Amino acid sequence: MKRWNGWGDDQTIYPLSNLAKEYLISILGKGASGADASLEDVIKSVPGSRLPNHASISIDREDRLRHACGQSLPDWINLRAGRIPSFPDGVIYPDSVTEVRDTLSFARKNNLILIPYGGGTSVLRHISPPQGEIPVLTIDLSQLNQLIDISETNQLATFEAGIKGVEIEHHLNQHGYTLGHYPQSFEYSTLGGWIATRSCGQQSYYYGRIEDMFKGGHIETPKGPLDILPFPASASGPDLRHLILGSEGRFGIITQATVAIKPIPEFEEFFGIIFKDWESGFLAVKEIAQKDIHLSMMRLSDAQETETTMILSGKRNLVRWAGFGLDKLGYRNQRCLLIIGITGSRNQAPQTRRAALQVSRKHGGLFTGKFIGNTWRKSRFLAPYLRNSLWDHGYALDTLETAVSWKNVQLVKDKTVNAIVDVNHRWNDHVLVFGHLSHVYPTGASIYITYLFRRSIDPDENLARWQEIKQAASQAIISNGGTISHQHGVGHDHASYLATEKGQIGMDLLSNTGRFFDPSGLMNPGKIFNSDGEFQSKGST
Ligand SMILES: Cc1cc2nc3c(=O)[nH]c(=O)nc-3n(C[C@H](O)[C@H](O)[C@H](O)COP(=O)(O)OP(=O)(O)OC[C@H]3O[C@@H](n4cnc5c(N)ncnc54)[C@H](O)[C@@H]3O)c2cc1C
Repeated sequence: MKRWNGWGDDQTIYPLSNLAKEYLISILGKGASGADASLEDVIKSVPGSRLPNHASISIDREDRLRHACGQSLPDWINLRAGRIPSFPDGVIYPDSVTEVRDTLSFARKNNLILIPYGGGTSVLRHISPPQGEIPVLTIDLSQLNQLIDISETNQLATFEAGIKGVEIEHHLNQHGYTLGHYPQSFEYSTLGGWIATRSCGQQSYYYGRIEDMFKGGHIETPKGPLDILPFPASASGPDLRHLILGSEGRFGIITQATVAIKPIPEFEEFFGIIFKDWESGFLAVKEIAQKDIHLSMMRLSDAQETETTMILSGKRNLVRWAGFGLDKLGYRNQRCLLIIGITGSRNQAPQTRRAALQVSRKHGGLFTGKFIGNTWRKSRFLAPYLRNSLWDHGYALDTLETAVSWKNVQLVKDKTVNAIVDVNHRWNDHVLVFGHLSHVYPTGASIYITYLFRRSIDPDENLARWQEIKQAASQAIISNGGTISHQHGVGHDHASYLATEKGQIGMDLLSNTGRFFDPSGLMNPGKIFNSDGEFQSKGST
């Protein structure tokens, strides 16, 4: 069963090895592991529902608890402490477009707030119910999970939008096709959620981001239904898909989506290259991205991440011997790991590999074979389970991400890391912070930063520390040319930073579009822009 206060299925455990524990203690100190609130106790804290009776709405307290939070660090802190700030008053599970439409009209008639819920994997409090007088109804789209049509001639497939990544691949693979969208949350996140947050999968270099795959669909808005047709290309004015991409449940509910599919690739491999330092790896990755080399993934870890990943893998002998061998070859404590993926045609692969290795070697890269790449591939959806074990051992983990032009990649990474370190100094405590370039483009790259700190047994302290880190890091990102999000979206936690990149007219355009689709302001208020169209001031909480 899905964990109610952590990540994933409760039968899957990614334990912390002794090696990992020793490492974390040496850097952060011993974590304090206070007892978490029990499910039974938290259920008791769920208040009565304020919704009018409706045969299809569940007002079951556990159901409402399980839809109250996503996967952000503040969500975790609140869930583990059993202090959830607000709950939806009910949850509805429509299994047809008609039921979605009826739910919209029920919400409108009864003056309710409506929150579309895909897989609940948001890390930015996209699905958190606002506190206040107005009752909240969460519309869980998990029953809209069917394949509607697959056209091999057009290489298009149409799905209901509540379908999860695993189910999409299951359907397509049976026909010899794939969507190839693999966010790390793939097990639980949904097609509608991906579109609504402009998600990016791990192999976007080959398959594209979700906006490259999303060709059209059906959206139920409070104003009425909107159909977007899946033309191969069109010059007929502004592209309405881009109104829906990233709309985060503010403009309506995506009920069906047509996506571009590809035949299952005949070839795929992942391998590792070690560089002496970040600078050399950075130059290699940039050069590869700017040449016409058809990879499916490049992920360059900094020295801290390279070391931490090896140690968290828990294989003491492997870490010892790999370290020893690499030291001898001159790849010492600043070494950085690059994982490269090649996907596609068997004929083209050797040429692609040669081209990537040639550039890597030019920058001192050492080819280490497929072991590291295969290990990464096997654990790619398992890694988030480590967060459960880290929490149990007293450590909180959060991630941040951005994208920025090549010229500023180093600056933004350094400033963001320094901002995180500075805040933790002020808290008189250590932090373990590391990062990687996760997606690369000819014009720039996305930077993904992970940090861990020893959590306090006082949830308020944890929340306050998280808030300071988030604010300092977000300011570092936006004031040095980075976007507030490359892939996670805006939600609640990034809303106050958005104006810096959109500007006043851009923000007005978004809030006016919201008013057009949703004149009574029932759709997921407080996310992306304020319902009243006002600017939120930069960095407000
Ligand atoms: C461990 C972990 C790893 C992650 N890795 C990645 C990653 O690699 N790449 C990445 O891009 N993201 C990643 N994320 C973030 C998250 O998975 C994505 O934002 C994902 O797209 C959310 O999908 P969801 O179905 O869970 O949506 P939810 O979290 O349920 O909702 C997100 C937003 O979309 C809206 N929404 C959902 N469905 C619909 C719909 N049908 N119609 C209208 N609005 C809708 C909601 O109202 C909400 O505003 C990760 C998250 C976690 C916890």
